[in-house]
Amino acid sequence: MIKSALITGITGQDGSYLADLLLEKGYKVYALRRRTSVPIMENIQHIENEIEFIEGDLLDLSSLINALKISNPDEVYNLAAQSFVGTSWDQPILTGQVTALGVANMLEAVRIVKPDARFYQASSSEMFGKVVETPQVETTPFYPRSPYGVAKVYGHWMTVNYRESFNMFACSGILFNHESPRRGIEFVTRKITNAVARIKLGLQNELRLGNLDALRDWGFAKDYVECMWLMLQQEKPDDYVIATGEMHSVREFCEIAFGHVGLDYKNYVVTDPKFFRAAEVDLLLGDPAKAISTLGWNPQKTTFKELVQLMVDEDMKKVKQQSNNIMSVGSRA
Ligand code: NDP
Ligand code: GDP
Repeated sequence: MIKSALITGITGQDGSYLADLLLEKGYKVYALRRRTSVPIMENIQHIENEIEFIEGDLLDLSSLINALKISNPDEVYNLAAQSFVGTSWDQPILTGQVTALGVANMLEAVRIVKPDARFYQASSSEMFGKVVETPQVETTPFYPRSPYGVAKVYGHWMTVNYRESFNMFACSGILFNHESPRRGIEFVTRKITNAVARIKLGLQNELRLGNLDALRDWGFAKDYVECMWLMLQQEKPDDYVIATGEMHSVREFCEIAFGHVGLDYKNYVVTDPKFFRAAEVDLLLGDPAKAISTLGWNPQKTTFKELVQLMVDEDMKKVKQQSNNIMSVGSRA
């Protein structure tokens, strides 16, 4: 029998990789997409015709109920969120509405329409914030450091609560930072790899960054969406830390990214106080032991160095393509 899945956050990094994976596995994929003045298609253009889109918004419960009715899914992946920590200080209320209450809306829609659907919630290592132990595991107490982190804690506990209150198959994946060429441009990794390409191609002279000493446990998004799927294939619902178990600094990321195209980051990176956080998360390091033993997951499929290099290579291609397009428009004008 063909399985069906409903994904929220389809236009984002994880939604697009998860859709690739589920389509490969033969799923019928439905995706909640909010109306925008122009379609946001960059990450999903290649599979646009294989997905059934349903218009809706995490803030609008009736649209979610409608999406559940249309898709009647076996599995629901709630990936939609206001996901950028920096923006969560500028828009704390919206972040709470989407990233926290949006989870309650999704859980309610599932409970009302399809309570036996398996539910995945995209929780975050940002919940650990000012870490109280290292490495962080599933039982590490939370100490969020941003409105985003606070909102994710609410979503996490609502997921646990719906599992315990209504016996729903609801899982929370506590994912550490994961990156890819499809990552939003404001996140530090993609900001760096895009700038490396532009500097190498003579389109930019410097890169302005904040705290170069922040440490993160960075993995590859394509490897991480596999865990989301694995969590929903288990006999029992549970929560898992997904991480590589290695941490690196923003500085190291710069060193490898610039080094990959023969440049020294010290000649281009400028520290700008504008990019320092109101409250910083100094380090995040996850212990994926439970995911390895229970899900059979391999956290080191793509190494840190491979990840940085593949992101730089993709940005080199994209930036070259963009500047070729501009030149060909210019020559026709
Ligand atoms: P992105 O920011 O790339 O994607 C977010 C998605 O949410 C977009 O599709 C966006 O749609 C959608 N969205 C935002 N607001 C709404 C709304 N009100 N209604 C419906 N859809 C909405 O995030 P990622 O793919 O990187 O992350 C996926 C999830 O995992 C997020 O919940 C994130 O917080 C969480 N997470 C991510 C980590 C990471 O390192 N990437 C780490 C841990 C957790 P639109 O295109 O229209 O804006
Ligand atoms: P986050 O872990 O979800 O906040 O992911 P980000 O990629 O946004 O940030 C990772 C770390 O990089 C944080 O500790 C930031 O303070 C640090 N950082 C340093 N400079 C920058 C910058 O210019 N932009 C962003 N987004 N982060 C930066």
